[in-house]
Amino acid sequence: MNKYKKRNFLIILISPSGGGKSAILRQILNIRDDIGYSISYTTREPREGEINGIDYNFISNEEFKKLKESGNLLESAVVHDYWYGTSKTFIESELEKGKHIIMDIDVQGAKQVIEKKIDVVTIFIIPPSLEILIERLRKRRTDTEEEINTRLNSAKKEMEDIHNFQYLVINDDLHKAIQEVNEIINTEEKKIHRFVNIKGNFYGG
Ligand code: ADP
Ligand code: 5GP
Repeated sequence: MNKYKKRNFLIILISPSGGGKSAILRQILNIRDDIGYSISYTTREPREGEINGIDYNFISNEEFKKLKESGNLLESAVVHDYWYGTSKTFIESELEKGKHIIMDIDVQGAKQVIEKKIDVVTIFIIPPSLEILIERLRKRRTDTEEEINTRLNSAKKEMEDIHNFQYLVINDDLHKAIQEVNEIINTEEKKIHRFVNIKGNFYGG
C-alpha cells in the first residue's frame, strides 16, 4: 500500500474563448475521481441547459457585491460585462476532501490566484492557429459574428499574458490534448515539495 501522502493543488486551465477549455475539462473530470471542479459565482443569466449550482452559482449583482466585500472570493473579475468569482470556502472544503481542484477562469482571475502564492498549476491552451480558432468558434454555434469578434479581440490580450503561466498545450487533436493535461497533473503530483513527511514514511515503515 502506498502510504506517502501528497498535498493537493489547484489547476487552472486558461485559454482564449474557443480554445477548448470546456471540452478538455469535461473529459479530465470523467477520467479522474481525484479532481473536483470549482463552481464559480456569476451575475450573468443562465444559458439554456445550464443548471444553478452545477455549471455556476447564478446570483444577483447585490449578492455578488456582498460576497466580494465579505472576503469570501479567492479572485473575481468582470468578463464580457458580468462579474465572475471563485468561492474560497468551496475550494477549501474540496481540498480538505483530498481532491485537486480544477478551475476554468479568465486571465485576470488566474493572475490574481498566482499573486496570492497559492499552490497552483497553470495550463494555457491554444488551438494550432488563429484560423482554426475562428473555425471552431463558428462551428460551436454559440456566438454571433459580432460576439466572435469580441472574443477574438479578448484573445489577443490574453495571448499577451501567456508568459504568466507555466504550461502550454496545443489543442490540435482533442484526445491528445486531454492526455497532455492529464500527464501534466500526474507530473505535478510527483514533485517532492507536494509529499508530506517522506522521511518519516521511509524510516518509520
Ligand atoms: P472554451 O471552453 O475554451 O471556450 P470549447 O471547449 O467550447 O472552448 O471549444 C470550442 C469548440 O471547439 C467546441 O465546439 C469544441 O467541441 C471544439 N473543439 C475543442 N477542441 C477541439 C479539437 N481539438 N478539435 C476540434 N474541435 C475542438
Ligand atoms: P462563460 O460565461 O462563457 O461561461 O464564461 C466566460 C468567461 O468567464 C470564460 O473565460 C471563463 O473562463 C470565465 N470565468 C468563469 N468563471 C470564472 C471565475 O470564477 N472567475 C473568473 N475570473 N473568470 C471566470
